[in-house]
Amino acid sequence: MPGYKHGAPVPDEQLRPGKLDEFIGHEDLRANLKVYLKAAREREQALDHVLFHGNPGLGKTTLAQIMASELGVNMVSTSGPVLERSGDLAAILTNLSRNDILFVDEIHRMPITVEEVLYPALEDFKLDLVIGQGPGARTVKIDLEPFTLVGATTRIGLLSSPLRDRFGVIMRLEFYSPEELARIVKRTARILDVSITEEGALEIGRRSRGTPRIANRLLRRVRDFSVVGGAAGIDFAEAADALSRMDVDESGLDQMDRKLLSVLIEYYGGGPAGLKTLAVACSEDVRTIEDIYEPYLIQSGFLKRTPRGRVATAKAYRHLNRLG
Ligand code: ADP
Repeated sequence: MPGYKHGAPVPDEQLRPGKLDEFIGHEDLRANLKVYLKAAREREQALDHVLFHGNPGLGKTTLAQIMASELGVNMVSTSGPVLERSGDLAAILTNLSRNDILFVDEIHRMPITVEEVLYPALEDFKLDLVIGQGPGARTVKIDLEPFTLVGATTRIGLLSSPLRDRFGVIMRLEFYSPEELARIVKRTARILDVSITEEGALEIGRRSRGTPRIANRLLRRVRDFSVVGGAAGIDFAEAADALSRMDVDESGLDQMDRKLLSVLIEYYGGGPAGLKTLAVACSEDVRTIEDIYEPYLIQSGFLKRTPRGRVATAKAYRHLNRLG
């Protein structure tokens, strides 16, 4: 079929930009990070600990990997919920080589007991291990290789302040513009060997909720529709048609976004309604609503967070063709 190559599927890992210059958007953040990386390389020292915060799929893991590759060091990945006991963290820390990066995703979900073991490691590259129990217990100090902790979180507010204060660099990832997402879509299309027009890429970018991971996912699905429909590539009409068939509307809202807004409007007179109440009414997990759905609805002006609860905006009423 013209425009499409048949071969092994391309895993998501291969879509990640490997160098800072290939990372699209976030110009200021990139420029600053470039300086920090250069300085660390010149000093031949481990970079200060870095915290990335922002919604899922905005590039936190990608940036951590880029940092490791630009510094020519290894990256060891783990996540807050996986580190159940302080011994789990100690095992990872003692295995790090000089200047390695330790990437901890969802760092806000790390248990406090583990967090306390991390503090001296972050400050002095030392580990205080308690050996034995009861009156015979003793503390041993272990020297660690200097390393850089790169933490990622979707909820910076849930990080304890002692932990937050130990990061020398804190960077926030914002939603991407449709144009930036279109550039990401075109880059991914090149890797996937899919032909796509400028307008097709922009349409996917416009409907991707400001999020590169969603843009890449939508591109894969639009490609499926396009292949099955026998098209040579993706243009505006192909993209728009496939996205509508996937129930992603012109504003990028999906079924769950619309359900959330219509429940708020129909059952609670547009709000204010509490998050838990909304979650139950939508049969969805509170954290999923808070982390995945709500931030984009708020950012794009469909929803407001007030001290008394969530409120649907006039834009939400118009979007759902309801009278406000
Ligand atoms: P997070 O860790 O914030 O959840 P990821 O780093 O896993 O997000 O990014 C999700 C996907 O989006 C990656 O596979 C990567 O291909 C893509 N991506 C993210 N940010 C960018 C960017 N700025 N430029 C190009 N691709 C990106």
